[in-house]
Amino acid sequence: MASCDLGKYCVLISFFDVSDPKLNPIDNPVASLGGLRREKLARLSKLGIHTIADLLWYGPKRYEDRNRPQKIEDLVKGDIATVAGVIKAGGVKRMRGGRSMFEFIVDDGTSRLNCRWWNMPYMNRYYKAGDNVHVHGKISAQKPLTMDHPEAEVDEEGDEFIHLKRVVPVYRLTEGIQQRWLRSVMWQAVDQFAEKVTDVHSNWIEGDDGYWFSLKKAFKEIHFPDDTEQASLARERLALEEFIRFYCRIKDKRQLFQSKIKALDCSGDDSLMKPFLSNIGFDLTGAQQRAWFDISRDMKGSFPMRRLLQGDVGSGKTVVAACAAVQAVESGFSVVLLAPTEILAEQHYRVFKKWFEPLGVNVHLHTGSKKTLDSIDRQQCELDVIESALPPVVVGTHALVEDKFSLNNLGLAIIDEQHKFGVEQRKKLVRKGHYPHVLVMTATPIPRTLGLTVYGDLDCSIIDELPPGRGRVRTFVRSPDSLPKVWEFIRGKVTEGRQAYIVYPRVDDQGGGSIKAVNQEFESVKENLAPHSVGLIHGKLKPSEKEEAISGFLSGEIKVLLSTSVIEVGVDIPNSTIMLIENADRFGLAQLHQLRGRIGRGSFESYCILIAGDISEEGRRRLNVMEKCRDGFMLAEEDLRQRGPGELLGKTQSGMPNFNFGDLVEDWILIQKARSLVDRNYNI
Ligand code: ADP
Ligand code: MG
Repeated sequence: MASCDLGKYCVLISFFDVSDPKLNPIDNPVASLGGLRREKLARLSKLGIHTIADLLWYGPKRYEDRNRPQKIEDLVKGDIATVAGVIKAGGVKRMRGGRSMFEFIVDDGTSRLNCRWWNMPYMNRYYKAGDNVHVHGKISAQKPLTMDHPEAEVDEEGDEFIHLKRVVPVYRLTEGIQQRWLRSVMWQAVDQFAEKVTDVHSNWIEGDDGYWFSLKKAFKEIHFPDDTEQASLARERLALEEFIRFYCRIKDKRQLFQSKIKALDCSGDDSLMKPFLSNIGFDLTGAQQRAWFDISRDMKGSFPMRRLLQGDVGSGKTVVAACAAVQAVESGFSVVLLAPTEILAEQHYRVFKKWFEPLGVNVHLHTGSKKTLDSIDRQQCELDVIESALPPVVVGTHALVEDKFSLNNLGLAIIDEQHKFGVEQRKKLVRKGHYPHVLVMTATPIPRTLGLTVYGDLDCSIIDELPPGRGRVRTFVRSPDSLPKVWEFIRGKVTEGRQAYIVYPRVDDQGGGSIKAVNQEFESVKENLAPHSVGLIHGKLKPSEKEEAISGFLSGEIKVLLSTSVIEVGVDIPNSTIMLIENADRFGLAQLHQLRGRIGRGSFESYCILIAGDISEEGRRRLNVMEKCRDGFMLAEEDLRQRGPGELLGKTQSGMPNFNFGDLVEDWILIQKARSLVDRNYNI
């Protein structure tokens, strides 16, 4: 049994280490093309090209239309252009300070263009007066018309098929690999091997809408297109192929997993569920009910649940997770809930205690600083020694993941704000049991494309509706000049009985600049808001100090809480209606949205005030998006566009699938299409 593979599946989001399925015979080393020197092969491998397949999948970074070069006379400074002409004169000039400049002048019959390269005197050997040449680059000066460091290629006789009189591919290169050389090798590879690519998926696509290239044609057209439109059709076909293969790999892993692993029976008997639901004090929203239906069905099924519960901040994921916990416990299994911060773990602990203890279910807290079970066994928290007929629910932080912690009969592992955890941590938690059901939750809305790829091996439920009776949240972007007015406003609201968060990007001032830090601002804010009480919380405080601050704020004793982004996730205090964020431009959109999610949880109208000083046009635009948009998913897509997937998902999610042609930002339609094709055709 491929146990390690199964283990890997068990770790969520684990498919990244799966390599492409190998195809025959293009899996042979590039050397099999013949005529390539060993030194060149080594250089190609630096580009990740080892096999013929790698070569074919190595797409051009751009194209040059050498049928239609631009006229030099039409060019102006700033243009990026390709021109074709004859070298009129050229040579190396020695400059002061030992520098040199190689230069030639191209004439295309309409005008002349100077091309210059600094400190590359050897170029003199390759470009001679009278040569026909193509150059591509940016016009850096108007008089005389000049390109600095353009790409340049001399035409040679017999080049018509590959390098001339067509749309030619231009590849990303590395030292020792020349454009013309790689293009020729690619020509050979496409000519000899494109036909031999195994192309099962074209049959799947055929019955679908529209016209799609075969893989063979796609490889030909991506490298040596008839025109740029064909190249773009080829790109789409190859991207689709990548997405299809990606989903097939997920299906393979899932099938292997499901064929070997049987789920723990967490069907439940409603003995606890009924009283639980009637005691929580509200009805589940429709969206919560749908999510709960999915989860409950998974837990009754024959395969261990692997489900992602997505829902915007404040949509009420916790109670749905609690339903899952109840069903596990009434089926005789214990539950762990992992939270990323002590603040959040304690909050869940409090809420779960309130909900579960009346049912006779023990709830425990297990964090770095607090272990409610320590008194029973300091060395090993063997939790089942607690006297209760029912298995316990244990809420905690990273401490749950440590080797010391063990729990008998684990039936369900819940991971809240799962993007805050690394793959290893999730794996270790899940391994505390024998293939328990796993529910991961996130409020960082995941853009659709990433959701379908990064979380592709999870089933997904979305809570897309907020509980009723929530007050409106209004967002304002203001400059530091408006702060006096803002303080006035906060004083007024606090006097009315509301509470406020004030968030800073830093704990301590690091000197210089205008970036504010919570420790340095504390005294002046206290003064400013007197006699209202002001509290302080940040990651560097002792756990007991943090707890004091949060419980003071929760009880209403503290009216205004100064904080760093530690309160970003999960904190649920409905009476707080103001979120003031200083240096708001220092935070990502998704993070700002999370912070804003701390307010608007009660019935009062809430206010999110973003303070930003002198910031770029782009930064201003980002903050204005916050003013207009309350939808976390739209903000996440905007963030993805602006900052890229790595940034958005955080470092712990490294190992994003790597697509040569597929684009995680733009290819939503292709991703969906791939997914539905695989669902329809896999295993048929
Ligand atoms: P999140 O999805 O951000 O984790 P929480 O689970 O913390 O949100 O829920 C936010 C608040 O909404 C909590 O105070 C919770 O008790 C309340 N809540 C959840 N579901 C409902 C509901 N169906 N009706 C009324 N209030 C609800
Ligand atoms: Mg939450």
